[in-house]
Parts: sequence; structure tokens; C-alpha cells
Amino acid sequence: MSKAYEIVDHEYDVIVVGAGGAGLRATFGLSIKGLKTACITKVFPTRSHTVAAQGGISAALGNMGKDDWRWHFYDTVKGADWLGDQDAIEYMCREAMPSVIELEHYGVPFSRTETGHIYQRPFGGMTTEYGEGPPAHRTCAAADRTGHAILHTLYQQSLKNQAEFFVEYFALDLIRDLDGKISGVMAWNLDDGKIHRFKAQMVIIATGGYGRCYFSCTGAHTQTGDGNAMVLRAGLPLQDMEFIQFHPTGIYGAGALITEGVRGEGGYLTNSEGERFMERYAPHAKDLASRDVVSRSMTIEMNEGRGCGESKDFIHLHIEHLEPEVIAKRLPGISETAKIFAGVDVSREPIPVLPTVHYNMGGIPTNYMGEAVQPIKDNPDVVIPGLMAVGEAACVSVHGANRLGSNSLLDLVVFGRSAADRCAKVVTAGAKQQSLPKDSGDSVLDWLDARRHSKGTTSTAELRGEMQRTMQAHCAVFRTEQLMAEGVAKMASIWSRMNDIKVSDSGMIWNSDLVETLELDNLMAQALVSIHGALERKESRGGHAREDYPDRDDENWMKHSVAWLNDDGTSRFEFRPVHNYTLSDDVEAVPPKARVY
Ligand SMILES: Cc1cc2nc3c(=O)[nH]c(=O)nc-3n(C[C@H](O)[C@H](O)[C@H](O)COP(=O)(O)OP(=O)(O)OC[C@H]3O[C@@H](n4cnc5c(N)ncnc54)[C@H](O)[C@@H]3O)c2cc1C
Repeated sequence: MSKAYEIVDHEYDVIVVGAGGAGLRATFGLSIKGLKTACITKVFPTRSHTVAAQGGISAALGNMGKDDWRWHFYDTVKGADWLGDQDAIEYMCREAMPSVIELEHYGVPFSRTETGHIYQRPFGGMTTEYGEGPPAHRTCAAADRTGHAILHTLYQQSLKNQAEFFVEYFALDLIRDLDGKISGVMAWNLDDGKIHRFKAQMVIIATGGYGRCYFSCTGAHTQTGDGNAMVLRAGLPLQDMEFIQFHPTGIYGAGALITEGVRGEGGYLTNSEGERFMERYAPHAKDLASRDVVSRSMTIEMNEGRGCGESKDFIHLHIEHLEPEVIAKRLPGISETAKIFAGVDVSREPIPVLPTVHYNMGGIPTNYMGEAVQPIKDNPDVVIPGLMAVGEAACVSVHGANRLGSNSLLDLVVFGRSAADRCAKVVTAGAKQQSLPKDSGDSVLDWLDARRHSKGTTSTAELRGEMQRTMQAHCAVFRTEQLMAEGVAKMASIWSRMNDIKVSDSGMIWNSDLVETLELDNLMAQALVSIHGALERKESRGGHAREDYPDRDDENWMKHSVAWLNDDGTSRFEFRPVHNYTLSDDVEAVPPKARVY
């Protein structure tokens, strides 16, 4: 079958799959180091989801009040509900300041204080004095378009440093060399329909999250976690996939995001009785408690009949009381978003919002240098040769069970850079590479070909809708054994219907029907390991809240779940210990305690 496809061969030192913030930071870092690098991306680089990030990027610069990276470290460990690896968290929070200053020097147009320093706003879960002091002004912002500013700057830096791009190329799968080592990727050029085989000493996956497993999601339609699925298909595991972040303020109906920066600037939530209910759930941090806490509180309000509107199924977010100048200067983007997607004039009326899928804490397990790892026998941290991961696709794990807002943009640039630095050590520029097996890539093309000519009865959109609604109903903010067991059974049946899919267009040029079908394959794999993982984990921690196991259980469950997807659509689990130690003596590991805000 695969003989029918013409293959174009390439050889590079390093291949980066993905051109969001993480992929671009890695790409130009590699170019600076003199490694021959290709960046493959299914959308034009500046259309990656990073462009939509609004609120900002955290760093304890202390421009608008006293701050310390150790407080940032403490907040992140606590926000992660003690599932984050503290060595990696130390690395990220310490590297935050130079990384943001570096972005400023590269040209990111940050908003400014009166004194000309980078403007910083409060964000959920970011505090001072190890949680004892007032909220920290730690989140560096370019108005409410920070991701846009960062992504464009990183793309310009990549072009300046002569990085090579393969734009609108859809990466299909990983390939291995004669020794079985990961040694490249197969990709499909959407524009002319040709298949490309990229050989490399190192592949860095930077394909972002998989929010589109769910019906209501703040992420782009392209967030289908293709790289994660490639890793599963290669027989390698993903980590902590049960931890899915719901952002408290997605616009009711549309799912579009209203940044937490709105609450950072003084916005607040009310129920149908006009009550500022967060004061009951988080007396100290109130509307700026971390995201899982606010999302659960909102869900309880709605479940107990205090939601707004006729169906009592949303909550009000207010900024009418803010000075118009503050809105115009600090939150121009969300005023527009609220107008377009909710028909609301934010200076006069509240925005209808509800918790919406926003971020995947889980992904490809890595160490803080970006190297992919897996547990083998007694060693939980065995490096997988030839494979790295950065950004939302990776699980370093700095976000543990719950990510703090503005820590993701930080994760992209810090670990994008550390992965490039690591490559400079382990990859030799221009080194001769092991040859590929003769049939390299054939199985990938067989899969592509089968889907391309699939003549079943269910359309891709229909089956995708069923998966998304099942995940939304059975694996959302609150979870129980029974609800999830039903979800697992439904997902098994939906998954089995992939073989009955109907692809109407069998062309190879701009075949969006086929692209969406391959993306559905990818989503399906991740939905399965996520819901299986959620059923497996019998405790509540961070974004994973079980009504039947309401407490965090450190004795049995302070460990990362690692999942492999079996051929029959079931999952196999192992566990890795959480790193409860730091890299240096400059900061002390934070022992677990109750997480209250
Ligand atoms: C609306 C919104 C607002 C946010 N606001 C903030 C914020 O203020 N602060 C913060 O810290 N975080 C924020 N986040 C989270 C953060 O923006 C994301 O986690 C982060 O941008 C992900 O970056 P990434 O580089 O990992 O992937 P992405 O930016 O998602 O990029 C993925 C890349 O992979 C490529 N790709 C994917 N599949 C394939 C394939 N098969 N073949 C080839 N290429 C492929 C895509 O083309 C793209 O270039 C926000 C997220 C959303 C959705």
C-alpha cells in the first residue's frame, strides 16, 4: 500500500515538532548552538495556541512590591497539590527572572510601570511570604495579549537565527532506526500532499495540549495532542493524564477564555443571589484562590441551585466597577471577546461564565532538561534515547495536580531553553546517523492509507462529538466511581467505532476531512488514558476531585501515574515517585500539608 506514496527524505541534527512558545524557544535555542534544526508545524507558527494566552508570565522580578523566587517556588509546590517535582519547580522559578528579562531583550513589548519597569499583576495562588503575606504582583503582562507578544517575538528570533521551518506539515508518527532508537518523524505536507521522512539524532515534541477531548474548551481546535498520541503509539507512556484543568471563567456557551487577569485587576464572581460566594470557600484568597478551588466552588453553587439564568447553569463575572481606563489599558482584549461571544458590554453588565477545560497537566514524562523518561524495573527515571518533550505536551512535572495561572508561558520558555541547552551537550552537530530500516515508516503510511479510504457510516465530526460529550459528562470537575465506570464503557464503544469512520475526501491536498480523522485518532487515545487514569486514582488532589474519595491521600497516592495504551483500548498503569527534593540548598523542599487559600 505504502509504495503508492512518494517519500521525500531529510536529515537534521534535531527535529522540533510544534511551533508554539515551547517549540519556538527550543528551535531558536538550537539554531544559536549551531545544530541543524528543522521545526515542523501543522499551523503557521504564529497561529499556535500560545498566541491566545492573555494574562501573562510569572517571574519574581519584584517590580511592583517585594518578591522572592522562593515564594514563587512555594506557591507552585502548593498549587500543584504536592504532585509536582520540586527539583524541576526550583529550576523553573529560579530561571524565571533571567528568562523574562531575556524575552524583554528579544523584543517582547511588555506593559510598563510608571518607572518603566515590566508591569506585573496578581494571579491566582501567587502569594508572598510563603503564603502568609498579601497576593504577589508576579505575573508579567503585555496588556491582555501576552502570548501574542511572546509568540511573535520568538518567531522573529527564530527567523533571525536562520531556523528552518516546515509550515503546514502534519507530523504523523515517530520512526526508529535499526537499533530501535527514536530517530525521526514522518510528516505529510498538507499543501502538495507529499510525504516527508525526517531523520534526526533527537526529536523534540512540542505539540501542546489535548483540550479538544472535551466539548467545552478554551483551547484552539488544533489542540489535539498529536505528539502525545505519537508517543502512545510508539509503545511509550504518558504521565498524570487524569489531571485536567478547568478554568473558572470560560464564556458560557462559546468556551472562549476570560483571563484570570480580570480577577487580578479586581474582578469578582457572584451567584444568582448576587453573593460574592468565593468569600465562603476561600476566605483569604477569595476570587484569587487557585483554579481548581474556584472551579469546584462555582460548580457547587450551580449544583445547589444558585447558578444564574433560567437554567441556573452559569455564574456572573463582574468588572463593571473597574475604572474605564483600567479596562482600556489592561484588559482591552477581553472587552472585545465578551462583546463578540457573550454580547456583553463589560462596563455595564456582568459576563456569564462557567468552568471550561483549559490545560493538561499530564503529558510526556520528562526531567528538567527536557529528556523523556519512563520507569523500567527499579529505575523510575530511565531516559528514552532520541526523545524530548517541552511545553504543554510535556509533564516535567512542574504543575503537578494543578497548574497556577501564568506558570505555563514560563514553563515554555524555561524548558524550551533547557532542552536546547541539553541538546548542545548530547547531540553532535553533523554526526553520521544510523540508517533506517528498509520498511521505515511503512506502518505509518498503512494507517494513513486505511483512514484515507475509510468508507464506514459514521462521520468524523459525529464520533468526535460523542467522545467530547462523554468526556464532559463523565470526567469533568467532580468525579465518582460509577460516573467514570459508565464513561469508560461508553468510551470503549466509541473507540471501537473508529473502524466505522467515513472519510469522504480521499485526496492528499488540503484534505481537512482526513486531518481531522487522524486528529480524532489522536484525541481518542488520550481520552482513553485520561479517563482510565481518573478511575484508577482513588483520592482527590488538585484538578482531580472525587466525591467518593474527597481527601488527598499522600500515603498511597503521592505518586505520578504512568499510562501505556494497550492495543485493545485499555490502559496499563505504573507509578513514579514524586521528587520531594530540591536541586540545591538555596531553598528547602516543602513538606505536604493541607492546601487552603
Ligand atoms: C485561551 C488561553 C489562554 C491562556 N493564557 C495563559 C496565560 O496567560 N499564561 C500562561 O502561562 N498560560 C496561559 N495559557 C496556557 C498556555 O498558553 C499553553 O499551555 C501554551 O501556550 C502551550 O504552548 P505549547 O508551545 O506547548 O503549544 P501550542 O502553543 O499549543 O503549540 C502547539 C504547536 O504544535 C504544532 N502541532 C501540533 N500537532 C502537530 C502535528 N501533528 N504536526 C505538526 N505540528 C503540530 C502546532 O502547529 C503548534 O505550532 C492559556 C491557554 C489558553 C488556551
